[in-house]
Amino acid sequence: MIIDDEKLQRTLEKAKSHTDAEVTEILTKAKELKGLTLEQAAVLLNVTDEKLLQELFHTAKYVKEEIYGNRIVLFAPLYISNICTNECVYCAFRKSNTSLKRHASTRAEINQEVTALLQQGHKRILMVAGEAYPGGTLQYVYDSIKAIYDTRWNGQNIRRVNVNIAPLVQEEFEELKKCNIGTYQLFQETYHKETYEKLHLEGAKKDYQFRLDAMDRALKAGINDVGIGPLLGLYDYKYEILATLEHAFYLDKTYGVGPHTISIPRIEPAEGSDFSLHPPYQLTDTDFKKVVAVLRLAVPYTGIILSTRESAQLRTECMELGVSQISAASRVNPGGYSYDKENGSQFTLTDERTLAEVIDALADAKHMPSFCTGCYRLGRVGKDFMDLAKPGLIKKHCLPNAMFTFAEYLEDFAPASLKAKGYALIESTTKENFEEGGAIRKMIETNLANIKNGKRDLYF
Ligand code: SAM
Ligand code: SF4
Repeated sequence: MIIDDEKLQRTLEKAKSHTDAEVTEILTKAKELKGLTLEQAAVLLNVTDEKLLQELFHTAKYVKEEIYGNRIVLFAPLYISNICTNECVYCAFRKSNTSLKRHASTRAEINQEVTALLQQGHKRILMVAGEAYPGGTLQYVYDSIKAIYDTRWNGQNIRRVNVNIAPLVQEEFEELKKCNIGTYQLFQETYHKETYEKLHLEGAKKDYQFRLDAMDRALKAGINDVGIGPLLGLYDYKYEILATLEHAFYLDKTYGVGPHTISIPRIEPAEGSDFSLHPPYQLTDTDFKKVVAVLRLAVPYTGIILSTRESAQLRTECMELGVSQISAASRVNPGGYSYDKENGSQFTLTDERTLAEVIDALADAKHMPSFCTGCYRLGRVGKDFMDLAKPGLIKKHCLPNAMFTFAEYLEDFAPASLKAKGYALIESTTKENFEEGGAIRKMIETNLANIKNGKRDLYF
């Protein structure tokens, strides 16, 4: 059993009556970077005392800095189609929303969209689609991934395509793997079965268990990196986060590797969905930050993804607490970056800054923007990535790689003021983290010089 509802409810109930000393003890333990048990996570999720909350945030910041340093990975979602046969009450793409303009991008349109993203400086795409594909088979999905990888603009190309599409059977996952995807991402929406059944009214997505078992099938099919998450606002957030952790622990125990990422989308207003305007369990920004902090402590080596559903201010605060990947300059409709900037969006975006503006703000906050895809291309995925991450090597490997991709961005896309700021950040980060005269420092200096001289796509 992946989700034990009774156990989760019991654990949450028991955690309500905790002492301050217990919380402090759990936080001290979390600093060992070995994660938390479900019971410990449940206690932290129940913290409301302001002083203890601040302690929780400080601990999360410590763990984030120890493992990830200041790097933040950037990506853009690419919505290829908004056609869907499901009836999820919170989503604008649901079948009964007849006022929505529907479209599935053609290959030529995908080239156009990807070109627009390459022109901004993006290197990583999360491909997203409703559940209904032109031609009635998954060939459309496979062809679309190929179209993304094949697009070239000015010597630039997309280096990693992650995918968020409806769950597949194992043979289809095997085909998806052949398309050279990075992470397969799928949100359970709500882990609470009764609620799930009330909110998914029609179509294949009605089947809670088929969705819950998707990651098992994906991993068995050889997909190395999977991403999970709840859609926050559908049910009690404490339950959802505990269930997400139970799912993560189950995958780790069964396959020797936990999820590569956890996403924490919150419901945003969606056209034609009254439900989305008043989600029954919307959480406050403080609860949201608590969620980030608890996840950071509970699964320290799992990436946490935040989308442009959240405001710029909250995104900045959450990066301090443990978020490691963010989307930027997103559009959530087919054509949104190029051929149709108006119609057919899935929900309303909150952070509408351009990629350059997001990067500028990251640099101001001393975060190192990263477009790196090195691990995936060197085969450091799944368990191999975790084995590398666990001894704390993300900083040593990923940070230099992040700096190389950031330097590429500065050379190819940044205005002069950002270029100066960016190189200053690279220099100070190098000095703080890598010993002068040491092998890594020398390699960084050589690669940065090569990038300035026109070399691209350097990683180790
Ligand atoms: N159709 C596939 C599915 O549902 O799994 C994959 C793509 S779907 C467009 C991606 C995700 O968008 C869903 O899993 C859901 O969590 C999220 N989503 C749907 N409606 C939303 C809303 N109103 N606000 C924020 N996120 C939403
Ligand atoms: Fe379709 Fe996915 Fe939206 Fe549900 S969440 S209506 S399955 S696109």
